[in-house]
Amino acid sequence: MSALLPTYQRTDVELVKGQGSIVEDATGKTYLDFIMGIAVCNTGHRHPYIQQRLEEQLNQIWHTSNLFQIAAQERVAERLTEDSHLSRAFFCNSGAEANEAAYKLVRKWTGKTEVVTFKQSFHGRTFAMMGATGQEKIKAGYGEMVNGFKHLPFNEMESLSAITEQTAAVWLEIIQGEGGVVVADDAWLEALMKKAQQYDVKIIVDEVQTGIGRTGSRFAFEQTPLVPDIITLAKGLGSGLAVGALLATAEAAEVFTPGSHGSTFGGNPLAMTAAEATLDLLLSDTVMADVQGKGEYLRQQLEEKLPKSIVSSIRGRGLMVGIECTMPVAPLIDALRENGLLVVSAGPHVIRLLPSLFVTEQELIHAIEKIQLVCQQEVIV
Ligand SMILES: *Cc1c(COP(=O)(O)O)cnc(C)c1O
Repeated sequence: MSALLPTYQRTDVELVKGQGSIVEDATGKTYLDFIMGIAVCNTGHRHPYIQQRLEEQLNQIWHTSNLFQIAAQERVAERLTEDSHLSRAFFCNSGAEANEAAYKLVRKWTGKTEVVTFKQSFHGRTFAMMGATGQEKIKAGYGEMVNGFKHLPFNEMESLSAITEQTAAVWLEIIQGEGGVVVADDAWLEALMKKAQQYDVKIIVDEVQTGIGRTGSRFAFEQTPLVPDIITLAKGLGSGLAVGALLATAEAAEVFTPGSHGSTFGGNPLAMTAAEATLDLLLSDTVMADVQGKGEYLRQQLEEKLPKSIVSSIRGRGLMVGIECTMPVAPLIDALRENGLLVVSAGPHVIRLLPSLFVTEQELIHAIEKIQLVCQQEVIV
């Protein structure tokens, strides 16, 4: 009997060691990790440069609170906002917290309460973000949600007519992650942008999963026509240490004044060291071009090699890839784990691949072979 609350459906596997794309469980079995802590370890496990920077910081100071100057916070904010219309950052510890900050900001900024989000979206587990999230299973049993969230069909032009002068903000993921790796169409985003401008509706992009290089650019919105007022970040930002952030335009940022918002842990020196080292590694044009190239290769190979009787579509951008199946994916995911490849679902019918952004071509080839093998076995059965 476990002393933990039963909030997760866990496998029996315990991962005890990791390096790059490879992890080892408590029995000594090794796996190719294409989950990466659910899009968290974008630099792979224990990248030597990040480990060295963290070890140096462990010998300096770990936590000081936001009562003091934190130079690393200033530097990470600079890095996240350079060459961007988003010019201010606030640091916290998770995706849901970053989204809460965005929600508070947009409520105070606009004085309105209506927020448009989308069906199948995921924005986190706090009370307000449960309301923002467009999935019933997340809300079951909790009663009345925070008022004001309207959930519209994603990628549908007709849904945009629900954006009016009553609307404070429209809030979306560029690629719905938990919702099935569904990529927003550029034409739809362009129309959404126009509609928002027409009524001075703010745009919030939840980049908690898509940000920090995952899709082959610093942020996913940078490959689209969308110009958000606020974006939120977390998962990949700290390479495994808990870091969340909100980025805002200078105009939006003025809404928060001393006392408006805060976090005890947010942006502490250890977390900021992890974030700074992560950005040092990931944000070069060469690394981003490489992520795009590897993503295209991966999707093209899967498209070519997987049996059409089981796989209905391959989606994604950069190294955020979804394999939609005609059957429930849980048994396929179990079989892949048995075969030494770790992948996660995105809803009942989609296998999600989230490898290290430094995954090698050889590792991609191995993963593709394993997925092909497991799908073919399923066809034969
Ligand atoms: C994971 C995720 C969140 C929630 O992040 P937590 O750190 O678990 O609070 C929010 N939005 C998106 C798009 C996510 O993928």
